[in-house]
Amino acid sequence: MWNSADMAFALEPFLSSGAALAISAHGSEALKDKYLPNINAGVWSGTMNLTESGAGSDLGPMKTRAERHGDHYRIFGQKIYITWGDHDATENIIHLVLARLPDAPQGSKGISLFVVPKFLVNDDGSLGDRNDAYPVSVEHKLGIHGSPTCVMAYGDQDGAIGYLVGQENNGLACMFTMMNEARLKVGLQGLGASEGAYQKAVAYARERVQGGVAIIEHADVKRMLMSMRALNEAMRALAYIESLTMDLSHGAPAQERGAWKARLDLMIPVIKGWMTEVGQEVTSVGVQIHGGMGYVEETGAAQFFRDVRITSIYEGTNGIQAADLVGRKLARDGGATMELVHDEIRQVADALAGSSDDRLAAMGRALSDALAAHVMSSQTILELFKVDKSAAMSVSFDYMMQTGYLFGGWHLAASSLVAIDLLSRDEKTLFCQRKIATTEFYLHRLMPRGSAHADAILSPLSQLDDYAVEWL
Ligand SMILES: Cc1cc2nc3c(=O)[nH]c(=O)nc-3n(C[C@H](O)[C@H](O)[C@H](O)COP(=O)(O)OP(=O)(O)OC[C@H]3O[C@@H](n4cnc5c(N)ncnc54)[C@H](O)[C@@H]3O)c2cc1C
Repeated sequence: MWNSADMAFALEPFLSSGAALAISAHGSEALKDKYLPNINAGVWSGTMNLTESGAGSDLGPMKTRAERHGDHYRIFGQKIYITWGDHDATENIIHLVLARLPDAPQGSKGISLFVVPKFLVNDDGSLGDRNDAYPVSVEHKLGIHGSPTCVMAYGDQDGAIGYLVGQENNGLACMFTMMNEARLKVGLQGLGASEGAYQKAVAYARERVQGGVAIIEHADVKRMLMSMRALNEAMRALAYIESLTMDLSHGAPAQERGAWKARLDLMIPVIKGWMTEVGQEVTSVGVQIHGGMGYVEETGAAQFFRDVRITSIYEGTNGIQAADLVGRKLARDGGATMELVHDEIRQVADALAGSSDDRLAAMGRALSDALAAHVMSSQTILELFKVDKSAAMSVSFDYMMQTGYLFGGWHLAASSLVAIDLLSRDEKTLFCQRKIATTEFYLHRLMPRGSAHADAILSPLSQLDDYAVEWL
């Protein structure tokens, strides 16, 4: 709901909760007592400082440094693109900053994590001196204009005072424990912007008259609205069901947690990558439905499109998500976790395909065909990965997209099985009819896009090496 209302504004609690999670997972009791109550209450906000001009997707070359100074550290360096880096909406800002100690090992294994408050906090909880942590510029961006994205300078005077979170040189590992939460949330931004775009587009299409009728009556406009709605429902089903997987990975009986975590790890790059790619399409279609009014700013349709563009870039670009899906999540266990998911999808497809209702049976067959194509893609990539990792990476984006279209169809189909059951008992009749019709549209009109990605994966052109870099 927040992301549908204003993604830029929603980023402030997003980043604050990320900072709070990092402190609560890895901070000392003293750090937790001092910082968590006010961050959790929304009195203070938080930021995450990873990126530097020379360190983006690869954080290894990071230059920001930390020096030991009694019971604390002094931080020196510059971070770029820091979301909600500075503002006066909260009384204090708690920066979480990655930096390198002088004797740290090279690369990503030598990075430590620090709490660096904008205002130092006294022992009684009151605010003290201004810390040496300042914004030196605000980025001018394509979208999310309500979010101040800052270049932050630490220690330009005598060093910004920072407090270690977790162990020295273990900062990246501390950050990565929150990675699944953060990536799920960015996937939800894709959905939130898409839902906002849909609500605006459907309202406009009911009112705007062309050719003597409201444009919603024109087949092509209806196609666009149904596509938006079906993609949104598929994304929502995927994200919500797998949020439960996240809860179970933390809260299931100890002996079951590993299996839930493996499944969650597999889902996260698909949720982040596919949902943010789809978000760009859905918000763009929202502009299209408004015609010229979509391209001018008054309607707000363009804002969803501009805002959502960042979601495929930050929190690990979608290229990094695709590489993670293929290189770690699929290949690491030889496809075992993916096979378990395939089994679940097969059960849903079989349940629909076995229906005496022709419509439902056809939906089951569509899901079954998409599953068979995905099994083939998974096996092809696993084989490719063994002999030529670069070739496997050249089709990783196609695989992520094919996986997303399949997973969306699977969860929608599973929702429809619930709807069929409720309908048989005359419950929630309209909602359930609409759910089944939306699923049917998705399975027959949108999920087949996965076949094009499968063809690309199977094509002999997976080796991009034949095309010289100089030719680009
Ligand atoms: C509005 C905004 C807000 C941001 N907020 C924050 C924030 O709060 N905190 C923070 O620390 N950072 C933040 N960032 C930074 C963001 O996380 C980075 O921009 C992002 O990680 C990409 O890094 P980069 O820009 O250096 O791109 P690069 O890493 O240079 O990537 C450029 C291109 O190369 C590709 N690429 C790079 N390496 C590989 C690889 N190994 N395999 C395949 N492809 C690769 C990428 O996919 C991309 O297409 C923000 C950025 C923006 C624009």
